[in-house]
Amino acid sequence: MNDSIDKIKHYCGIVGIHSTTERNIPQDLFFPLFSLQHRGQEGAGISYLNNGKLVTYKDLGMVSEVLGRYLEEKRTSTVGIGHVRYSTTGGNLVENVQPIQASCNKGDLSIAHNGNFSNSELLKSKLTEKGAIFGCTSDSELVLHLIAHSMQDTFYKALKETLCYLEGAFSMVMVKDNNLYVMRDPMGFRPLYIGHKDGLTVCASESCALDILDITDYRSVLPGELIVVNDDGINSEIFATSKRKAQCSFELIYFARPDSEIFDISVYESRLEMGRVLAREDGDPSQYDLVMSVPDSGNTAALGYAKESGLNYELGLTRNHYTGRSFILPSQEKRELAVKMKLHPVKEIVKGKRIILVDDSLVRGTTSKIIVKLLKAAGAKEIHVRLSAPEVKGPCFYGIDVPTKEELISNSKNPEEIAKYIGADSVKFLPVDKLKTCYKNSNDFCYACFNNDYPVEPKTGK
Ligand code: SF4
Repeated sequence: MNDSIDKIKHYCGIVGIHSTTERNIPQDLFFPLFSLQHRGQEGAGISYLNNGKLVTYKDLGMVSEVLGRYLEEKRTSTVGIGHVRYSTTGGNLVENVQPIQASCNKGDLSIAHNGNFSNSELLKSKLTEKGAIFGCTSDSELVLHLIAHSMQDTFYKALKETLCYLEGAFSMVMVKDNNLYVMRDPMGFRPLYIGHKDGLTVCASESCALDILDITDYRSVLPGELIVVNDDGINSEIFATSKRKAQCSFELIYFARPDSEIFDISVYESRLEMGRVLAREDGDPSQYDLVMSVPDSGNTAALGYAKESGLNYELGLTRNHYTGRSFILPSQEKRELAVKMKLHPVKEIVKGKRIILVDDSLVRGTTSKIIVKLLKAAGAKEIHVRLSAPEVKGPCFYGIDVPTKEELISNSKNPEEIAKYIGADSVKFLPVDKLKTCYKNSNDFCYACFNNDYPVEPKTGK
């Protein structure tokens, strides 16, 4: 499906590195950030310690565009952090790109954050009353203000106090002096991994970003864990606990890379299982001829469906990977053209066939409608759309950009009506209770945008 048209978007990915010996840290940061490009394509940046001073470089653009220069340059350092960002509509400003570096009464520090605080409005209005001035619309800046306002006598205590004010989702890395701080919220909304090799400690949103640096000894940062990495070693403590865990189930359905491990689960295996469950829900496979995916988001679940059903898995849609990041789509005609530029049917495969078409989710239905039209025009006899996500019905307050309730097609149409709207012969979603069977410790997940069971209610500033 065309990522620029009808996909739920992630806000970001983060990386932190500490080394006990001097290395080219900016270059080291490039590779894991490159591996996390799928988590944000609008901006990238790094902060690192250079001769005792914190330096930050960031800009709008892809990792290779913004940070490619560091592949050519040698800059020795021992600690740094990095960030890739996707911005919401109207928020694509360089000021919002992270890391955010600041000088305050506790010294120079820089932060990179994945997630959203569900009480950011409330905290912002309280801080504004006290005279705080915000330089960007990203709520990550709040952390810096809270640290600066803290009356605690050490930076570490001020940081811990700050973390206890925050609600919602935060996987964060911070650099101050020669220290790397790594934090994950007590409910564990967003993934975060940490690993080591020969004096090098790396943390990142997904394990694929550690693999690229050949770090194989890694683990998930625990919900509520605060880790400090410096030349004395690695110190960890649980700063807060929560009875309820709320790991984002959408991370495993769609956001994370299939070769990653997150939440101690293989993304690939869980998507295969989603496909298998979809096939079991459908029952008798003899009514279909083949299974195919909407590449790339539906690939692994489609394979799982094929394995379970015994149907052939075919590559009936070709994806053009060279179409760039985004399009301005003022009309339906141009929207169709944009989908056509990205996805094209293989006529020889689809002609006369009854097709199971697997994708991860169906949000507004606009892109699915175009894809079904393309496949039917190429001769497909029947299209049965299967989604490895349940019906998306509500917003996310924890770092995912879900369209408004009014825009979400599942709020106004049932699956039969959706099928009619997109021109498919049937549409089926993976129900929430079946999705849960694909995860170990399924109660430790958030399913709120599917079932309206919000782990933390957002707090407004009023
Ligand atoms: S509301 Fe949806 S997207 Fe947001 S954290 Fe929960 S499952 Fe993930």
